[in-house]
Amino acid sequence: MATELHETIFVAKQERHKNLFLNYKNLNIFPVELLKDEGLLFLERLYMKRNSLTSLPDNLAQKLPNLIELYLHSNNIVIIPEAIGNLARLQSLDLSDNALQLLCPDIGRLRSLRHLRLSNNRLKYLPPEIGDLQELETLDVAMNQLVSLPDRLHRCVSLQNLTADHNLLIHVPRQLCWLHRLNQLSMAANRLTFLPLDLGRSRELQFVFVDNNAELKGLPSYLYNKVIGCSGCGLEGVAGEASGEALSEALVGLPAEVKVIGSKADGVVPLEELAMRTLHRIYHHLPADLSLVPPITLPKSLLDLLQFPLGHCHRCSQAMFTIIYPKLFPLRDTALAGVHRRTTVSFVAYCCSSRCLQTFDLQG
Ligand SMILES: [Zn+2]
Repeated sequence: MATELHETIFVAKQERHKNLFLNYKNLNIFPVELLKDEGLLFLERLYMKRNSLTSLPDNLAQKLPNLIELYLHSNNIVIIPEAIGNLARLQSLDLSDNALQLLCPDIGRLRSLRHLRLSNNRLKYLPPEIGDLQELETLDVAMNQLVSLPDRLHRCVSLQNLTADHNLLIHVPRQLCWLHRLNQLSMAANRLTFLPLDLGRSRELQFVFVDNNAELKGLPSYLYNKVIGCSGCGLEGVAGEASGEALSEALVGLPAEVKVIGSKADGVVPLEELAMRTLHRIYHHLPADLSLVPPITLPKSLLDLLQFPLGHCHRCSQAMFTIIYPKLFPLRDTALAGVHRRTTVSFVAYCCSSRCLQTFDLQG
């Protein structure tokens, strides 16, 4: 085997191969032949899946500077070196099915990266620097132990496909609704209790899979016209509950910023909310970001809300900050009932006023 490996690498060097296949080679260390002398300057794709590697060399980028794709699926890699960030041309990195517990912040330096696959590792969190990956289109972090996703993920403006099934996620950052290219969001088998009010507001988002989040009882009404997966959600309290009870269940886990839940009877929006809406309108029309306007005496939590409102009225698109007027549409009463038989989830329309609440219609 060793001789065959030497031969393969020798030929690749001699003939300046762009692709090198070292899958299923029983390797437990990175082959030194790849790192000797000037390395393999011409190599663009390196396939090393299903070996027994536990680490990567520090001088990887120095010796293989032109790597575009690196496949390390199914090894035993525990840690990746900070120098990984030097792979300036890398577009695809597959570290699925390894033993990673930590991901170094230097991953954020891979500015050409388009596809990052980290499923089936032992990650508990992702570094915020992942938000620096402006070219990233695919992020797969399924089957880890993540309890949250970094808020800064919304800076990955090219993201189209986000997969985070089988983790321990309690909520989806509402900032993700600002990812205007996101087409598919998959968060099945987590611990989600609610979804961001704006989820599905973007036309680009067409596929949302949140199956097997037993505590999830409400889906934003924007998802009514999308392809959704929600079997295994909201399974408790199935039999004939009063609709008031169903509504309060669907609202369990709402973000702390929701201070008031309005109803049809509440004709007047609270003063704090009106002030926030006015400030938002003012700042929204300014070209600069909030840090450039004169400081205003608002708590940081409200300043953050100004930048990322709770959501927008499902009826009239008005931004909302501290109050919502919810309206429930049990999924079993909609045309989708036949498709999603094994769930008691409801669609929730979040509105900005009692007027919008009264006039909202799921078909509208
Ligand atoms: Zn409204």
